[in-house]
Amino acid sequence: MQKDDSELGAQRVTRREFIVGAATAAAAVGATLILPRGAAAAPIELPQLPWADAALAPYISASTIGFHYGKHHKGYVDTLNKLIAGSALADLPLEKIMTTTAGKPDQRTIFNNAAQVWNHTFYWKSMRPKGGGPPPRDLAAKIDKAYGGYDAFKKAFTDAGLTRFGSGWVWLVARADGSIAIESTPNADNPLAGNDPATATAKPLLTMDVWEHAYYLDYQNRRGDYVTAFLDHLVNWDFAAANLAA
Ligand code: MN
Repeated sequence: MQKDDSELGAQRVTRREFIVGAATAAAAVGATLILPRGAAAAPIELPQLPWADAALAPYISASTIGFHYGKHHKGYVDTLNKLIAGSALADLPLEKIMTTTAGKPDQRTIFNNAAQVWNHTFYWKSMRPKGGGPPPRDLAAKIDKAYGGYDAFKKAFTDAGLTRFGSGWVWLVARADGSIAIESTPNADNPLAGNDPATATAKPLLTMDVWEHAYYLDYQNRRGDYVTAFLDHLVNWDFAAANLAA
């Protein structure tokens, strides 16, 4: 750990020094160069997975997790850190970077990478080994109220996954009035970003990644089988219940 920390620190300084002179980088993110000397902001970090790579097998393989976490998620983190280095955004926490850049066409690339970092971290927590099946009581009551029962909810959640054209995410959210709802967002968008008025006031409870990279190694084109596995064997209702109560 000592070694890793010092390496990270060294990288930080190196990148900072490199970027400080690069006014074009700041211009590209539409931000002011405000870098007091010696005040290097911590970069956005790739969080640890909440379980081992192979823990979700056979429903999601270690190979999928290896690429999805180790390449895709890490790639978003690395790209985001490059994009914000030397700008005012580098001093903000991830959620603030996301909400600051949401809906601004000239900051779309930063938003996309920041939101994908956030979405994936939330997605890992939305799953656990031996998960799935019906939700705990409080959540079940809200699901019954909104969908008329767990089977109908399952069908609606599955339909949301299947009808999301191209890449995106399916969310279970709590609305301001206390009801819950299924939402689907394209690409990197999420309920926190407020890009979509339908999701602007919703609090995410859990999410399912429906980008092809989430399931293609294990299910190829069979997105429906992945969604079924997610609901029957992986979904972490305890995480959703904790978010609902928070
Ligand atoms: Mn993904």
